[in-house]
Amino acid sequence: MGVHTTLMDWRQAVAVVIRYSDAKAPVTKPLAQAHDLIAAEDVVSPYDLPLFASSAMDGYAVCANDVAQASPESPVELEVIGEARAGLPYPGRVRSGQAVEIMTGSPIPGGADAVVKVEDTQRIDDRRVRIFAKVPPLTAIRAAGRDIKKGDVLIRRGEKVSSGLAAFLAAAGIGEIKVVPRPRVGIVVTGDELLPPDVNLLQLDSGAIFDANSVTLELLSKEMGAEVAFCERVKDDPSSLREVFVSRSQLCDILVFSGGVSKGKYDFVRPLFSESGGQELFWGINQQPGKPLFFGKLGDVLVLGLPGNPVSAFFCADLYLRTAVRRMRGEPDFEVQTITVLLGEEMTKNDTRVAFRRAFLRTRGKQVVAYSAGPPDSHLLHTIARHHGYVIIPAERARVPEGEPVEFVLPDISRLPRELLKTLLSIV
Ligand code: AMP
Ligand code: MG
Repeated sequence: MGVHTTLMDWRQAVAVVIRYSDAKAPVTKPLAQAHDLIAAEDVVSPYDLPLFASSAMDGYAVCANDVAQASPESPVELEVIGEARAGLPYPGRVRSGQAVEIMTGSPIPGGADAVVKVEDTQRIDDRRVRIFAKVPPLTAIRAAGRDIKKGDVLIRRGEKVSSGLAAFLAAAGIGEIKVVPRPRVGIVVTGDELLPPDVNLLQLDSGAIFDANSVTLELLSKEMGAEVAFCERVKDDPSSLREVFVSRSQLCDILVFSGGVSKGKYDFVRPLFSESGGQELFWGINQQPGKPLFFGKLGDVLVLGLPGNPVSAFFCADLYLRTAVRRMRGEPDFEVQTITVLLGEEMTKNDTRVAFRRAFLRTRGKQVVAYSAGPPDSHLLHTIARHHGYVIIPAERARVPEGEPVEFVLPDISRLPRELLKTLLSIV
């Protein structure tokens, strides 16, 4: 890609991405459409929950005092004055010597202070019931406000709307919520050599290859929580690319290019970006893979140019696009997360860039150890097929021996197999 005067440090590049990625303006959505989106504000409960004192059992609402001596041998007989169902309370009061037949969820009638479960009773006739067990006051009564108090926070700004939180909000009478919408990612994959994967490759020596990046970038964007606005393949020709900048940039928040960002004769993305009025924020990172990574801004749209080699494209999207998407989604923890693990096997390199080696995590006793997923070359797709993350080899190191602690980038914890997560959790 020719000579760069300086290559930017990867952490500095991440910081630039963060600086230019703002959370999208919040929108109000019904809870069912807000799943996995980030709450844009604290929501307080307009009510005590439970809303009122209700029965936790099917049985009889009584005055606890009346049944204080009740037992299987000497049951207490009470007058049944009515019925209380969920949604249909008993309107009157319960006095000493009386009971109301009550179902789970019904408000406790005035005067009653405990519920005897139906299993400890025997109905004699329409008007009378026998009670075989004593119940202390408040037995089987769900107290109002036990779950949450009016004015307390149900969901905090920055929390993800989950199925459980949605139940909490709905129970408090809240059906809509202000959330940060998903950023729209537009994907443009460049390369004259690319064929869609579902065509027959008739001539192996024609130089054509199947396009691996369209689908991977589409799926990866979705995994990160973005919405894919479009994904299209274009030729390495200036007029097609010019057209992309004119007609596609309004359709997305982040325009992602694959390929065409190096210094080759047919790498037109950067020159046409500049010609279209784009502002370049960086180009060239001191990293392997992904050295020619490019980032800029065209109006309000962020433009990320990924090198076309599938490993480079995947890695750069995994780190840099993910950071932008998380930030624009309103996630509070958008920084690249690293953990310290032990290196399971020696790793070497022969240049002065920071290396991000695709790797697996395994456990060894109580230690977490990283193993290489394959050679460093950016065209070897098997290294991104099942890897968990990236071992960082610092710029100045030519060799890191087995057993040394290294920094490991874990972009998405759901990439770890369940078996490994289980072992990790049992270690702590
Ligand atoms: P470029 O960044 O456009 O110079 O591409 C670098 C290398 O990646 C070349 O060998 C391309 O053929 C290859 N490449 C670019 N785009 C893709 C793609 N979508 N799928 C597979 N390989 C690609
Ligand atoms: Mg190309």
